[in-house]
Amino acid sequence: MLRMDTIQYNLPQDRIPRVWYNVLPDLPKPMAPPLHPGTHKPIGPDDLAPLFPMGLILQEVSGEREIEIPAEVRQIYAQWRPSPLYRARRLEKALDTPAHIYYKYEGVSPAGSHKLNTAVAQAYYNKKEGTKHLSTETGAGQWGSALAMACSFFGLDCKVYMVRVSYDQKPYRRALMEAFGASVTASPSMETESGRAILAEHPDSNGSLGIAISEAVEVAAKDPNTKYALGSVLNHVLLHQTVIGQEAIEQMALAGDDPDVIIGCTGGGSNFAGLVMPYIGRKLKGQSSARVVAVEPAACPSLTKGRFTYDFGDTGHLTPLVKMHTLGSTFIPPGIHAGGLRYHGMAPLVSHVLDLGLAEAVTVQQLDAFAAGIQFARAEGIIPAPEANHAVAATIGEALQAKAEGKARTILFNLSGHGHFDMQSYIAYQAGKLENYEYPAEEIAMALAGLPAFE
Ligand SMILES: *Cc1c(COP(=O)(O)O)cnc(C)c1O
Repeated sequence: MLRMDTIQYNLPQDRIPRVWYNVLPDLPKPMAPPLHPGTHKPIGPDDLAPLFPMGLILQEVSGEREIEIPAEVRQIYAQWRPSPLYRARRLEKALDTPAHIYYKYEGVSPAGSHKLNTAVAQAYYNKKEGTKHLSTETGAGQWGSALAMACSFFGLDCKVYMVRVSYDQKPYRRALMEAFGASVTASPSMETESGRAILAEHPDSNGSLGIAISEAVEVAAKDPNTKYALGSVLNHVLLHQTVIGQEAIEQMALAGDDPDVIIGCTGGGSNFAGLVMPYIGRKLKGQSSARVVAVEPAACPSLTKGRFTYDFGDTGHLTPLVKMHTLGSTFIPPGIHAGGLRYHGMAPLVSHVLDLGLAEAVTVQQLDAFAAGIQFARAEGIIPAPEANHAVAATIGEALQAKAEGKARTILFNLSGHGHFDMQSYIAYQAGKLENYEYPAEEIAMALAGLPAFE
């Protein structure tokens, strides 16, 4: 029999998960509630109604363990789901490691990343409740592309505020969004009060996700036919991503292996949560003892250096206050940082799970992340998105540690997307133009000093 260099563990289409898995009822402690930005009192579903359709709000606050995936959403998922799980034998060989390395590959979605898993669901619930326009922000452009595609499938208008620096550096991402029919504006823009306020002070602002979120939220809050969509951070977004982990559990069973360590990169926390929450559910039932590792850039270290406290989701302070690991909502990532994962906060659910000791967090420097991505590409033939390179670097670290200890170890990581639209950052890396950068602790302390205490 032919011994495969790379092994695919594929599931048939009828194994696309029927439910999204909500870890909340299985956790030993509930999450801290989101607070109203004005009154600082816990918010209810009605407070969110101007921004989101009720179908998504109910998921945001749901205590149900399983939430049925609508047939219309599963039908669209069938275009690329179940996504493949690979065993990276050539990478194992290149590292000369006794470790088994598996990766769940979300780059097979037409938008090129896991983000389409939630974009389709969000567009579906909005369409069902009569929304006409969706407004959103995008940083690197993956979320904007995913939502633009989902909106075109459901006949919704899509308005994207794209962080200025990406707008200038990533014309292909913009072109993709426009090809799907979205309208794309560089943020900060003159179209919103939030954008004008920033430009008045910083006319040449590079923008940030926090600023772009303020613009997109403002537009939705002011127009009854427009709702807002967020690509990460919120409970309902993380929930939609749990199709990844549920499939991985079945595929690892096909492989006859069980992960000792599960790894995902974290920006807002959604691809990480999507892979690990179903496993954390098993851990809580005593069915898995895997270590769960979140990997973030040293340049944007919300989990490892940020404070676990109430903060705003945006720079303009229009969103509810949520308890999360944060660098402060005025955080603007250093211009030198090319690896994505630039949000100032972290999903409250991921922050909570870390606080409960069910996951750990590490940082990776960007030169190590790109070196790992190149090594992975040369062995496996897939160019990872720069974000996913952080997970690859941590995986290689684990595999080399297993080798040093002479021990077997089964590693599973989420390859959240491909890097085909991010080659500019690879060009910069290959040209020696990237540097390592650690976000200074004093900056974080300063950014957080202005926040009132809520505990
Ligand atoms: C958006 C994105 C991320 C970071 O967002 P999370 O919500 O943390 O997953 C990581 N990888 C890819 C490919 C992305 O598009």
